[in-house]
Amino acid sequence: MRAIAQDDMKESPIRKRDGVYEYRCPTCRTWWPIDDDHWRPGNGFRRCKACWNGYHKLWERERAKDPEIREVVNFKGRIRHALNREKRNAANREWKARNPEYIAAYNAAYKARKKAEAMSAVSADGVASVCQSEQNVGSIGAVGVGCSPPPRSDAPSRRCTMTTRP
Ligand SMILES: [Zn+2]
Repeated sequence: MRAIAQDDMKESPIRKRDGVYEYRCPTCRTWWPIDDDHWRPGNGFRRCKACWNGYHKLWERERAKDPEIREVVNFKGRIRHALNREKRNAANREWKARNPEYIAAYNAAYKARKKAEAMSAVSADGVASVCQSEQNVGSIGAVGVGCSPPPRSDAPSRRCTMTTRP
């Protein structure tokens, strides 16, 4: 009986199911309950909320292809970023103060990762190379790893001198 009733209403965009009125979205052809979670009454019933979201996403994507518009949007973003800087930093400081154990764990993991990288860079004969170049003095690594490449032989200054340490 119920199926027949639904068939009769096939052409109608509105139906009542389990005591709830539903409207069929003309765009995605899906039945949605008529409420604020599924519809934007101000935008009418041409699209459901999800379809409007998809529409706006596509619209913004097309709009962002224009370099002038992108420049304006990026400029606004930079202004917003600068205006919220203090607020954001304060929130970050507060979060770090509330989660010291997370920070400690993160730092420990970073230290362990860097140590493992340095150990893997040690050459097979157990000799680590310590970079003495100006950019990264003291970093441990094999020649050419974690160190600027050696300069050409005709460039005498700024040489990358690698010393070995047992
Ligand atoms: Zn829809």
